Amino acid sequence: MTAKLIKGTEIREEILNEIEGEVKQIKEKHGAVPGLVTILVGENPASISYVTLKIKTAHRLGFNEIQDSQPVDLPEADLLALIDKYNRDDSIHGILVQLPLPKHVDEKKVLNAIDPDKDVDGFHPVNVGRLMIGGDEVKFPPCTPAGIQEMIVRAGVETKGAEVVVVGRSNIVGKPIANMMLQKGPGANSTVTIVHTGTKDLEGHCKRADILIVAAGVPGLVKPQWIKPGACVIDVGVNRVGEKISEKTGKKIAILKGDVDFDEAKEIAGSITPVPGGVGPMTITMLMRNTLKSLKFKLGIE
Ligand code: NAP
Repeated sequence: MTAKLIKGTEIREEILNEIEGEVKQIKEKHGAVPGLVTILVGENPASISYVTLKIKTAHRLGFNEIQDSQPVDLPEADLLALIDKYNRDDSIHGILVQLPLPKHVDEKKVLNAIDPDKDVDGFHPVNVGRLMIGGDEVKFPPCTPAGIQEMIVRAGVETKGAEVVVVGRSNIVGKPIANMMLQKGPGANSTVTIVHTGTKDLEGHCKRADILIVAAGVPGLVKPQWIKPGACVIDVGVNRVGEKISEKTGKKIAILKGDVDFDEAKEIAGSITPVPGGVGPMTITMLMRNTLKSLKFKLGIE
C-alpha cells in the first residue's frame, strides 16, 4: 500500500488563498488590514531566512508588515520598551519576537511582556491557559500544532475516538498538540497518549496509534514496523543530516530528514507527511491566520 501524501505546500496555498480573500473583504468593509510586527534582535542567519519568509507571506496577503531589526547588543530594557510601544499601537494586531534572543536577554521575561491579545505565536502563559481550557477560550493556538491539526482535518482523517500518540512533550509542539487533540470538538475528541524519553514501551504505544504525531528531533526514531497499517503519520521532525548542492541555485543546501523513515513508512501508513514539504510550511501560514484572527477579535467579527 502506498500512503496518501499530506502535502503542507498544497494546504498552505489553500489556507493563504482563504486568508487573502478575507483580508480583502475586511479591508473593503472595515477599512482595516492585519498589522504584524516582527522584532529581530541580532543577525542569526536562520532567523533572518525565517523572518524573510514571514515578510514575503505577509506582503502577499496584504498585511501591514513591520520589520523591526535591532542590534545584537540591544539592552533588555530597550527591548521591553519596544514591546510596550507595539502593545499600545492600535494598528498592530500581532507581535512576534524572533527567537533565539541574545544571551543577555531573559527570553521568558520578553515573551511574557507581549500583550496576550497580540501574542499570535500563542506562547504567552495566558494563551497556554486558554488552550488548556479549550473551546471558545482559545484565541491563538500555537502555530505548528495548529498547522498539524489543520493537516489532519484537511486530509479527511477521522479524529473522534481515534487513538492519537504524540512522540515528544515540548512546550511548542508535543504538549499543545496533545492538548488540542483531546478537546471535545471537531477535528479533535481523540484519546491521546504522550510518549517521551521516560516512556517504557515506545514501540508498543506507537503501534496502537491511529494518528501518530512525531516531534522528537531524532532522525529515523520511529521505525516502519511501529506504524499501524493505515495510520495517519504526521512527521514534525526536521533534522539536518548532511549537505548537497541545489539543482536550482547551485548553492549548498541542507539535506533534511524527518523522525520517521519516510520511504518505508509510506508503504504501511494510510496517509503521511513528507519532510521537507509537510508540517514545515504550515507554521508561518498559521501565524498569518492568527494575526487575521487578532484583527477580527478587535473588530468584533470573530
Ligand atoms: P524538543 O524541545 O527537543 O523536544 C523533543 C521531545 O522529544 C522531548 O519531549 C523529548 O523527550 C522527546 N524525545 C527525544 N528523543 C526521544 C526518544 N529517543 N524517545 C522518545 N522521546 C524522545 O523539540 P521540539 O522543539 O518539540 O521539536 C521537535 C522536532 O520538530 C525537531 O526536529 C524540530 O526541528 C521540529 N520542529 C518543526 C517545526 C516545523 O516544521 N514548523 C516546528 C517546531 C519543531 P524528553 O522530554 O523526555 O527529553
